[in-house]
Amino acid sequence: MRNFMSGKRRTDEYWEAVKSLEKVLKNDRLDAAMRASAEALAEPIQTGILSQGYKESSTACINRLIKGGGGCSHDRPDVDWERCPHQPPFRDHVSLLLKDGKPVAYVMHMYDDLPWERIKELTEFCVKYNLKFSIKAASWHFPNRTICVWIERAGSSTPEPFVNISRK
Ligand SMILES: [Zn+2]
Repeated sequence: MRNFMSGKRRTDEYWEAVKSLEKVLKNDRLDAAMRASAEALAEPIQTGILSQGYKESSTACINRLIKGGGGCSHDRPDVDWERCPHQPPFRDHVSLLLKDGKPVAYVMHMYDDLPWERIKELTEFCVKYNLKFSIKAASWHFPNRTICVWIERAGSSTPEPFVNISRK
């Protein structure tokens, strides 16, 4: 078995958690062990990220990120979705994150993986609208099962909110 914690931080509680997951793994297999671990971690990951000054907007409209503010007007019939997209070419479990009241990131939690075709499609979308994206190993929707795609404006400096919570 590989160790991911050493020294004093390998506490009795840590060891008990590993043993508990091993019991679940033995009885119910990998899916159940991954779900159990995700159940314990999903909210702390989300809270850890959002507590770094982010607030989830009530409407996840990517045009707000592209334009740097404003509300979503996509319920109006005259809005040109090509010029002002409401969403990327695909999405799942999305949030628009605000910092100091301004949109700074559009975050998606995608199941399992991102195949080349989707990476290419999202890259083309981001280039077209002056955005960029990075893929984070940690995701709060369903840790162990979803990956997080963090989209922001091309000129912004990529924040490391995931590093901040995982290295404490
Ligand atoms: Zn919209």
